[in-house]
Formats: sequence, C-alpha cells, structure tokens
Amino acid sequence: MMTDTAPGPALGEPRLSLPLCILLTAVLALTGCGEPRPYKETRFMMGTLVEVSVYAPEKAAVQAVSRAFDRMAQLERVAHAGHEDSPLARLRRGEAVVLEGDLARILEAGMAVARASSGAFDPAMGELVDLWGLSMDRPRRPSDGEIGEALARKAGLALPSGACCPGGAPVWMDLGGVAKGYAVDMAVELLVDAGVASGVVNAGGDLRTFGRRPGRGIWKIGIQDPDSPQELAGVLQVGQLSVATSGDYQRYFEEDGVRYHHILDPATGYPARSGLRSVTVLAPDCVTADALATAVFVLGAEKGMKLLEGWPGAEGVLIKEDGTVLLTGGIGDGIRFERAGKGIRDQG
Ligand code: AMP
Ligand code: MG
Repeated sequence: MMTDTAPGPALGEPRLSLPLCILLTAVLALTGCGEPRPYKETRFMMGTLVEVSVYAPEKAAVQAVSRAFDRMAQLERVAHAGHEDSPLARLRRGEAVVLEGDLARILEAGMAVARASSGAFDPAMGELVDLWGLSMDRPRRPSDGEIGEALARKAGLALPSGACCPGGAPVWMDLGGVAKGYAVDMAVELLVDAGVASGVVNAGGDLRTFGRRPGRGIWKIGIQDPDSPQELAGVLQVGQLSVATSGDYQRYFEEDGVRYHHILDPATGYPARSGLRSVTVLAPDCVTADALATAVFVLGAEKGMKLLEGWPGAEGVLIKEDGTVLLTGGIGDGIRFERAGKGIRDQG
C-alpha cells in the first residue's frame, strides 16, 4: 500500500516542545497507472500540519488552494486566544466583544455538542487548557490546588450567549476542540465555490473529502494505532464525508512516568481517563465531527457510543485502552472499516 499523504509522524520525544506531538490521520491515496495526481500543498497552521490536496488543472488549483489557506489563516486569528487581538484574547481580558460571524458559528457548533454531551465538551475550558500549557510550548503539571481554583472559577462562569458579550469579568473561552473542523469546512466551501471538483482538506487528522476521487471514487482514510502512531489501526473507505480523530497520543507530555494528554475532563480538570485511547468520528461536516470526537473521548465508550448513535449522520470508530475497537451501527454499508493493526480486536 502506498501512501502519498504520509501520516507525517513528527513524533519525537515523549517530553515535548511545540509542536508537542503532531500526528496526522493519513489519507491513503492509492494512485494507479494513468490516474490523475492531485495538486497538494502543506503548511503549518492552527498548531498542526494542514494539507490541501485537490484535483483540478494546475493553475486553478494553485490559486484556489492559496485562497483556502488564506481563509484558514484568517480563522486561526479569530478562534485562537494566542493572537493578541483575537476576540478570544479580548474576552480573556474582560473586554466587550460582539459574537458574530465565524466566531458565533464555531461557538454555536461547540455549544450544541456541549449540550448533547452534558458538558463533556466544554468551550469554557480556557483557563485549565492554559494551566496545562498543552496548546502552547510550555506543558507542565499544575498543582491540585491550581486545578481546583480554576475549576471553581469555571463553575461560576457563564459563557456569553446571544450576539453580545458586554465585558467585565474575564471569559476563558477555548475553541481548540472545534475550530480546526470549522476551518476545514470553510476551506472546502471555498474550494467548491472556486470550481474544484474534488479533494481533501486535512488539518492534522480533522479532514473533509469532497467530490468523487478520480479513478476510484472513494477515499481511503487511515486511523492511527494509538500504541504506535506511525502505524495504522485500520482504514476507512468513505465517499464525501468529514472525519475527525481525538486521541491521547496526539499531544502529550510525560512527567515522573505519567502521561498527560491534551483532552481534559471538565468535571475534574485533569486529562480525561475514560478508557478510550482514540475516537474517530465521521459526520457530514467537520466542525461537528471535531467537537463530537473530543466529547466522546471524554465520555468514554458507553456514553460516547450512545451520543454518536443518537446524532443524525454521525458514525464512530472507538479504540479502547485494551485495543478493542467499537464501531457504530452505520459502519459496514456505505462506510467500510478494515482493521490493520496488530492486537486490535473488532467488537460491535
Ligand atoms: P481535539 O484535539 O479536537 O480533541 O481538541 C482538544 C483541544 O480542545 C485541546 O487542545 C483544548 O484546546 C480543547 N479541549 C480540551 N479538553 C476539552 C473539552 N473537554 N471540551 C472542549 N475543548 C477541550
Ligand atoms: Mg475535536
């Protein structure tokens, strides 16, 4: 099997500096004799490697792909608190911010999943995410006291609702669990509007395919093995769809032999220990797939499967700590999953 979009395991030391640990769900493009090759470009943005791969005549492809990257860069400035003038940074300083446009839509998608997951997905985790330093270049284990205080402040914090946030108390919004998916959706929208017939936008494993892949029709998407992320646990075959993966191997650091990863349980303020190592969600749009994957990771297998089974158009592949793979009911017909990893057992 040849992959022409490499998993790109910029793996490295367990003790990480930025990029902490960047791994990509592979899009396996098996290119046969005489099949057209996509035009591809990769850039580092939103804390990960983003690859846009399209089937279009070269001149049109270059232009459209460049505009898609511009759009994602614009969204990065909107949805990441690291940009000093971003609405999120201003909210953290207690400034008044009007919630509109892209920001409002990202938050709305996140809040829908927050409600459906009883808060397992929580866009108000900003202070805790910062404390752990996992979105930045300074991961550290905060003291239990620091975590308790941040949790107590979070409990008293009402996320702004409606269009306007009047300012006053700091609002610690973090959209890291949903914004990449939205950026992928917007990039695909732009490419389709530009007349590109088919392609894939892949932001570090949060990806969306569009159109029919020339020659084969379907897209093959590799799911990484959490135990050895340079290998695949399985391969999905899908049509036009979004796929997002949340896993404990994607961003983490180790201290005194303990691994601390980047998906926090809003109930405890610590990295979620739900018995899952990886959650891949398939959905018609990537913003939903992204938020659901984070939520299901926190919820664990039983509640997570229930959430996915009840969410229209969503499917999932869950890998448990013991290597068991759980599949939602809709996988097997239009969407195929073949396991590839050693020691992975199917169930469900
Ligand atoms: P993902 O990689 O999509 O699962 O999202 C993880 C990112 O979302 C983290 O780096 C944080 O910025 C943020 N995050 C962590 N825990 C949560 C949570 N429980 N709910 C919402 N966002 C979270
Ligand atoms: Mg997510």
